[in-house]
Amino acid sequence: MGSIGEPDTERIIKTDLWQYAQRRSTQGPYADNLDIDVLIVGAGFSGAYLLYEMRKNGYSTVLYDAGKSFGGTWRWNCYPGARVDSPVPIYELSIPEVYKDWTWSTNYPDWHELQQYFDHVDKTLDLSKDSAFDTVVTSAEFDEKEAKWIVKTQDGRIAKAKFFIVAAGFAASDTFQMYLDLMTSRGLCAIRRFGLLKVSTTLANALQSSAQAPVECNAFKRWVPLRSSSQSTKELRILLCPWVVGT
Ligand SMILES: Cc1cc2nc3c(=O)[nH]c(=O)nc-3n(C[C@H](O)[C@H](O)[C@H](O)COP(=O)(O)OP(=O)(O)OC[C@H]3O[C@@H](n4cnc5c(N)ncnc54)[C@H](O)[C@@H]3O)c2cc1C
Repeated sequence: MGSIGEPDTERIIKTDLWQYAQRRSTQGPYADNLDIDVLIVGAGFSGAYLLYEMRKNGYSTVLYDAGKSFGGTWRWNCYPGARVDSPVPIYELSIPEVYKDWTWSTNYPDWHELQQYFDHVDKTLDLSKDSAFDTVVTSAEFDEKEAKWIVKTQDGRIAKAKFFIVAAGFAASDTFQMYLDLMTSRGLCAIRRFGLLKVSTTLANALQSSAQAPVECNAFKRWVPLRSSSQSTKELRILLCPWVVGT
């Protein structure tokens, strides 16, 4: 315990994402000057699925997240009573390797079980080997000469990537600002095509009014078939196979 006047740094309440930045390692996905095909920000459902898909398609991919491990919002939101309101198996990844060995204890799991689920996802797909945690992304700029994104982190790392995917969830207000900055800052008007997953009306409107040049935007939104009482969990998983969860 620190004496009066010396704050115990472990007990300081963090109010900004950058305060979680901490260099864990200098190896693998934590290395300086990465030069890769795809850089993903966010280790929630979206980021986990994208990392899996990108690797499967042969892209060298690294994922950054400010948190400690996979789970995204379910690592941050662990207040008493935090649980889903969409029943599983709608609320799970449609990846057979993951669901074949996983059984939920209830249709509406809470954050404890979601964290266990994400540990299972990570272990089954070996996602952590390409992921850097405690890593806060602070900027991303597109270098037109190199045709690559230059992505910087709070602790001073710089990574280059052909594709930059922001899977940072809706809860990160700082990230919301980053989307807008991507569309408005000088030099980034070079963006001509981009895709939005899980589009909210607010985000779409904000982007539309912020873009300084004509852009092509494709929006991808989930459609989920309604459950009939005769469908088993197994049947539903097959039906849902092409979809990723999210709101
Ligand atoms: C209590 C609760 C209940 C919910 N229930 C449902 C439900 O029933 N059905 C439903 O569809 N949705 C529900 N949601 C919404 C939930 O957010 C989504 O379902 C889903 O988990 C979002 O996943 P994601 O991967 O898009 O983002 P997230 O899980 O939010 O992950 C984003 C990640 O990005 C990281 N990140 C952000 N900015 C940066 C940065 N600059 N640098 C590094 N890392 C960064 C964050 O650390 C975070 O880990 C619920 C949410 C909560 C909190």
